[in-house]
Amino acid sequence: MESIGVLMMCPMNSYLENELQKRYNLHRFWTCPEKSVFLETHRSSIRAIVGNASVGADAKLIDDLPKLEIISSFSVGVDKIDLGKCKEKGIRVTNTPDVLTEDVADLAIGLILALLRRLCECDRYVRSGKWKYGDFQLTTKFSGKSVGIIGLGRIGAAIAKRAQGFNCPINYFSRTEKPDVGYKYYPTVVELAQNSDILVVACALTDETRHIVNREVMDALGAKGVLINIGRGPHIDEKEMVKALTEGRLGGAGLDVFEQEPHVPEELFGLENVVLLPHVASATVETRTAMADLVMGNLEAHFAGKPLLTQVV
Ligand code: NAP
Repeated sequence: MESIGVLMMCPMNSYLENELQKRYNLHRFWTCPEKSVFLETHRSSIRAIVGNASVGADAKLIDDLPKLEIISSFSVGVDKIDLGKCKEKGIRVTNTPDVLTEDVADLAIGLILALLRRLCECDRYVRSGKWKYGDFQLTTKFSGKSVGIIGLGRIGAAIAKRAQGFNCPINYFSRTEKPDVGYKYYPTVVELAQNSDILVVACALTDETRHIVNREVMDALGAKGVLINIGRGPHIDEKEMVKALTEGRLGGAGLDVFEQEPHVPEELFGLENVVLLPHVASATVETRTAMADLVMGNLEAHFAGKPLLTQVV
């Protein structure tokens, strides 16, 4: 398969890069100084793209590659890929569901605990020597708090399961009510926020869910409520969130994702009621290896004419 051209969009995982290199004619797009010259030269040999949560494939890139057959994403979210264009041109799209669910759900719980129990601040307290001069302030209990989940999909359901272990009542909002889950469904995000202490964003990013957490939702969550985002940055109206946090209208935020990654609003840096992570929810050695295997498994299946393992389009 060495003659098959594969375009990797950005550095994402060295194991994946090495394995792709062994199997295909791998092009590292980020190393090309003149992207348009590169595309002109290789347009008739590139048959696959490998992207991730940061860099996918827009309509122009897809149009620039007439031999493109498949986009295999090293992520479960495919919001960086122009899916409409792929459908129109018969280009297949795959992602990496399931293998990352546990890690992302674990991290959501980690963010809740870090935020409510102020773990990062406590750590800084000890390191700076302040403990010698007095005890740390009291924090907020997690067990028993109501958890509202936006998007009860694979990850949302795994977060719910974990939160149940902390005796938390579970509420949710999704496109569809799920009669069998035994959690309380709210038909709007505002009602969900009004009735939850902790609001967790776990839905897919689409045109409908962009800024699904807006000012009204944050005000409904309130000064004692906390917001957790392990979905995508654009789910939250970040400017409104910064205002709500600095004005004390929102109790706190635990964020793995941001609207303009890797840029994070600097107003957040001085706040102790936020925990800020660099988009690492699935970033464990075990999970990233499993994701890489799935990316390669999908490419292999496609080029062997077999059914795809995890097809989106
Ligand atoms: P999934 O199983 O497909 O679940 C997606 C959920 O989003 C479903 O519950 C779906 O509702 C809901 N949803 C879609 N459109 C909606 C809308 N318009 N309004 C309300 N809910 C809507 O996907 P998953 O595997 O759980 O992953 C969820 C997302 O997590 C991914 O798309 C990705 O963006 C994000 N993620 C982030 C990281 C990270 O590193 N931070 C890692 C992995 C994934 P229904 O249940 O009604 O269909």
